[in-house]
Amino acid sequence: MKICAPTKRWTWRLKLFAVAFASAAAVTPVLADSIYPTRNANWPCLNWGRQTPAANAGRNWCMTDNAGVFWASDGSLNQSQVALINTVVEREYEPTDLSVGTEPPQFEGTHQTDIIYGIRSDVPSVAEAVTWCDTTFDQQRCDQHYVMFKTAQHVSEHNICHETGHAVGLVHGFEMSPQLDEASGKLGCMGSSGNSLTSEMRAEINRVY
Ligand SMILES: [Zn+2]
Repeated sequence: MKICAPTKRWTWRLKLFAVAFASAAAVTPVLADSIYPTRNANWPCLNWGRQTPAANAGRNWCMTDNAGVFWASDGSLNQSQVALINTVVEREYEPTDLSVGTEPPQFEGTHQTDIIYGIRSDVPSVAEAVTWCDTTFDQQRCDQHYVMFKTAQHVSEHNICHETGHAVGLVHGFEMSPQLDEASGKLGCMGSSGNSLTSEMRAEINRVY
């Protein structure tokens, strides 16, 4: 019986591949390629570590490593800020093919918490918040992203929705392929305003996870 096992498993892999291929082909066409990597968002996925990157602080995110997205506070957020993050993340990302939830923060090892949220005064002055990859999983996927807000006032619905989007790979309009104007309503919270993901953004998440 043991001899049969690998063959059986291989057959299952082929079936799963066939199913995955069929469902990918059936997906509704999306607005644009708006998840890293795109033709206009093709930086390497790098280990930036725990410190706020001094340079290129806006272009240091990648895809997350799988559809199960667990998050935690780094300890710098108060209860109401954590509650607001929970509300926005559950409302906007749980309805996608991602499954979101909290866990005690894991900063080291092979199963690090996917997103660590916090407040950092050294966030570059041009930004209200930044997202970067602390530890990569492979060349395109990150094991752990940091989402850091500049001050308590910047822990807003828009910034939570927008930065969490980066932590799963969503890009800005000018980084999409083809590009979209930042003021486009089709960008939802990935644009310069808005507190929600659009159906196009949700479809894009569902296309890759
Ligand atoms: Zn952004």
